[in-house]
Parts: sequence; structure tokens; C-alpha cells
Amino acid sequence: MHSGIAVSSGVAIGKAYLLDRSKVCVIKRSIPDHEIENEINRLRGAIEKSKEQMRDIKQRAGSIADKYAIILDTYTLLLEDEILVNETIETIRREGSNAEWALTVTLEKFTNLFNNINDDYLKGKKDDLNLVVHGVIKNLIGHHQESLSDIDEPVIIITHELSPSDTIMMSKNYIQGMATEVGGKTSHVGIFASALGIPAVVGLGNLTEFINSGDTVIIDGIQGEVIVNPDKKQLSHYQKKQKNYLRYEKNLLKDIGLEAETLDGEKVQLMANIESIHEAKSISKFGGEGIGLYRTEYLYLASNSLPTEDDLYVNFKKIVQVMDPYPVVIRTLDIGADKQLSKINNVPEDNPALGLRGIRLSLAQPNLLMDQLKAILRASLYGKTKILYPMVSSSEEIIEANEYLEKAKEELRQAQIPFQEDIPVGAMIETPSAALLADHILKLVDFISIGTNDLIQYVLAVDRVNESVAHLYQPFHPAILKVLRGIFEMADKMRKPVCICGELGGDPMATLLLLGLGKVHELSMEPHSIPKVKKILRKVTLKEARKLADHALKLPTSEAINRFINKEMRKRFPSDFDRDMVFSEKKK
Ligand code: PEP
Ligand code: MG
Repeated sequence: MHSGIAVSSGVAIGKAYLLDRSKVCVIKRSIPDHEIENEINRLRGAIEKSKEQMRDIKQRAGSIADKYAIILDTYTLLLEDEILVNETIETIRREGSNAEWALTVTLEKFTNLFNNINDDYLKGKKDDLNLVVHGVIKNLIGHHQESLSDIDEPVIIITHELSPSDTIMMSKNYIQGMATEVGGKTSHVGIFASALGIPAVVGLGNLTEFINSGDTVIIDGIQGEVIVNPDKKQLSHYQKKQKNYLRYEKNLLKDIGLEAETLDGEKVQLMANIESIHEAKSISKFGGEGIGLYRTEYLYLASNSLPTEDDLYVNFKKIVQVMDPYPVVIRTLDIGADKQLSKINNVPEDNPALGLRGIRLSLAQPNLLMDQLKAILRASLYGKTKILYPMVSSSEEIIEANEYLEKAKEELRQAQIPFQEDIPVGAMIETPSAALLADHILKLVDFISIGTNDLIQYVLAVDRVNESVAHLYQPFHPAILKVLRGIFEMADKMRKPVCICGELGGDPMATLLLLGLGKVHELSMEPHSIPKVKKILRKVTLKEARKLADHALKLPTSEAINRFINKEMRKRFPSDFDRDMVFSEKKK
């Protein structure tokens, strides 16, 4: 049994497909002078072929993967990079060498350059470059680039790391599960897998050493485990677990039309976090009552040029119309940290998580903010629309952003473009300073939305995407509970609504605790989580939630809180949280 981090729920049992990402061996050959131009043409041909392959992948990816399309565009741009191509041609000419070898020389040069810069973002670019160049080399030597689109039977993907272009090619029909050696809770593999409903586990160390293609493997995306060549007993246990989980999920969907309220009548609006317009259409399938967080970054990541005010308006309007009469909370740009975009934020930072991100970037580049604000205002005419500022760390930032909002409104008035004058404005509470200043912040906004992903990262000083410190990323840390209680108390005094839109809001294990920590108006989450959270909500009282939270707040360690919450939730919901997950088979 191999343990990792569960990133997409469910159980998959099937044949392993070991995706080989090993590099090919390149040998230097001398090219006679009269063949040099042919060799350069061969290089250009291989680059063109790579571009075609990218286009092909992009086309096959279809609409589910629109946010990943940009990554392929980035690869294509790398292939068009003049320095890369010209350097290689120069080496072919200078050394009289073959194109494959010249390419590796260029790659080495760039890699050394990147290695001397201590910047995570550029390190990421180095990997992209590596992938792209090796694709071209494989084309040059006629080595067929193994890709997930070649798979024509149901398999479980086992690999060191899945690139976005790998995930983009996955055919839902054939990929039953995924396991990768690297990755953390919020890696793109997990986001992609859960959007498709494929069980996935990441951060599995040296897993590939223990598996061969064709081995039978079990992916337990509930517990975060991978079992290789299970014995009969294990196999039958997991087959049962798989069956029960599927039945359990199906049953959950039956109740999506019911009210999200506690037994003593406390209503909580369950909403969806989305990143693209395609996701908006399926929210009602899971019983979501609006969009609590529209991450607009992907609109920027998904196009080669910056979207204009009109582009943004068209997109926002469509989403607002689709969701009407439910509300849509549109977050202004949160580029930076884990969502870098060189078109906007091209100054390398030593510490991007603490750098120019979120509202800081918008205030540093007000035209971006103005375009966003005007687009949101114009869309507000078509349904309930709200504005949300990300990564706020002071009142001044909100005052300044609100001044831009007033300016945007005035410009629209001047142009006689109608909008909703009293559009609600909110601030994300995801930095320690915002949490401590929630009372002051609440005087400047209509609502707050707690971004627990970042709040946990910053309060605990633990990188949210780094698997080496994943064990320290503890949502049930006593400091987090204290911070949350404090925010709720301030919001209560100010009589302003609170939403929780980080991952914790969609974790059913946390539902009762959050409910007890304070007045939760809205929980916004990955749409698939809505039915399960609703089920929990409907079976508890506010009174018991308060009691549970008050007790948890007295506990001194994450371990004690985890143990307590786990015990209490398993006691109340044995079929939902049982470690052996027999689900609905257990008597209630
Ligand atoms: C958060 O930080 O909790 C959040 C919802 O924002 P993001 O995950 O986009 O940073
Ligand atoms: Mg955040």
C-alpha cells in the first residue's frame, strides 16, 4: 500500500498505464557544409510538427479544458521564440552539428540561465521549455511522443508528474484513475480530476518503481492510497467500496432540490466556485444556489492577449444570465503567487506569495481594474451581481479600490451605459491582517468572503501547494479556529454577511464546525461537494454545532481538534465518514 494525498474522491480499479516521461539520448553528428541548410530545414520541420501536435491536442481537449488551453498556447509561443530557434540554427552552422544536438545545447544554455535565478515562476518556465524542446527532439529522431491520447482501453495512469498538456488529452472514457509521484492538494491534476469525476492521488513518492504497465492497481481517492497487485481479499474489499461509493454519490443527488437548512431552521446558501463559463451551466445539477466565487484569472490565462472590457462584459453577462435569479460573485483579478501571468506581472519576485498579487496588482495597474469593474457593472443589469476584491491586507486598499469603482460608475454614467447603482461589494478575508481588521474592513464593504486556502497558508506560514509541508497545512489548527471565530464575531457585530469560499467551505467534515464558529450565510465550493455538505446541514442543529465549535476552540493542538471533529462527525454520520467507507450499507 502506498500513501499519498487524496485529490479527487472515489475508487478506481484497473490496469496500470505507466506513462514514461524519460528523455531520449541525443548523439552529436557532423553535418557536411552542403547539408547544413537541409539540417536547418529539418529543424524547422520538426518545430512545425510540434506546433501541429499542440494544435491537435488543443482541439481534442474540447471545452472542458479551456483553462488549460493557455498552457498549450504558451508552449506554441516557446516554439516561436526567436532566441530559441536562432540560437539552435547558429549552433548547427557554427559546429556543423545535427539539429537534435544543437537543440540540447540551446536547452542546456537556457537551463543554466534559469538555474541561476532563484524564482519559482521561472523554474516552472524551465520545465515548460524542457518539455517543448524534448517534443521537438523526439520529432527529429522520429521517436513517437507517447501521449494519453494514444490510449484506447480503460487504464489507470501512473506517472511521476502529469503536465497540463497530458491532462488535457485525457479521454474520460478510458482514464479510470490517476496517481502521480509529485503534487499537493491544489495541484492542477486534482482540480482536473475532480472536475471529471476521476479518482486521483498525488504526492506518492517513488511509486513508479513499484509498478509496471499492466499491473492491477487500486486508486483510493477517498483515503489517498494506491494498492499495487492486490490480493483477492483486498480486491473484493475495494470492489465493494467502489460500488458503495458510486451508489452513495448517486443517492446524494436525489436530495439536491431540498432546502439547505439545519433541523432548527438555520439556512445556509450553498454556492459554487467556478473558473469558467462552462462550469456555470452544471451548477443546478448539484443543487447550487448561485456562484459564490468566480475566479476571473482563467479568462486572462486562457487568451494570448489581455481581454478587453467588452470581452469581460460578454463573459460576465452570460454567466449572470445563466445563473439568474441566483447571485454571481465576480472576483476581480487575483493574478500572482500560484496564478502567474507574465503578460501582466512580468517582474520576477523572490517571494510571489507575498508579492504583487490580488488587489495589490490591480491597484498597481488600475486600467486592468477599471476594465474589470466596468465590465462587472455593465453585466450587473442582467442579474444579481456582486464584486469581490481578493488578497486584501488593509483598509486603504479597499478605499482605493472603491474610489476606482466610483470612477468606473461615473464613466458609465457619462457614457449613458446603465448598471446597477447599488451593486454589493465584498472583500476576501485571506490574510492575517484582513482577519484582524475585519471590523474596519466591514465598514467599507457589504459582505466578506473568507478565502481559507490562503488564510491557512498565511496564518500558519505553510505553502498551500508544496507537498513537503502538506502535513503542516492543517485547516483544523487551533490558530485557524481562533481566527475564524474572531472574524465571525466582528461580522456579527456589524450585521454583515459572511461567506466561506476556500476549500474548507466544501469539506463536509468541517461543515458542523464552521456552522458553530459563527453565522455562516453562504458556503461556496467545488460544485460536486454541494450535495454532501447539504446532507450534513440538514441533519444537524445550530445548537449542537455551537457546542461542538466551543469545545473544539478549547483544544490546544491540531491533532486533538482533528481527533475530536473526526470522532463527532463519524458518530453522527457513520456512512459518510467511515474510514472503511462502506457508505450507505451501514445502518444509521
Ligand atoms: C482562497 O484563498 O481560499 C480562495 C478561495 O482563493 P484562491 O484559492 O483562488 O486563492
Ligand atoms: Mg485566495
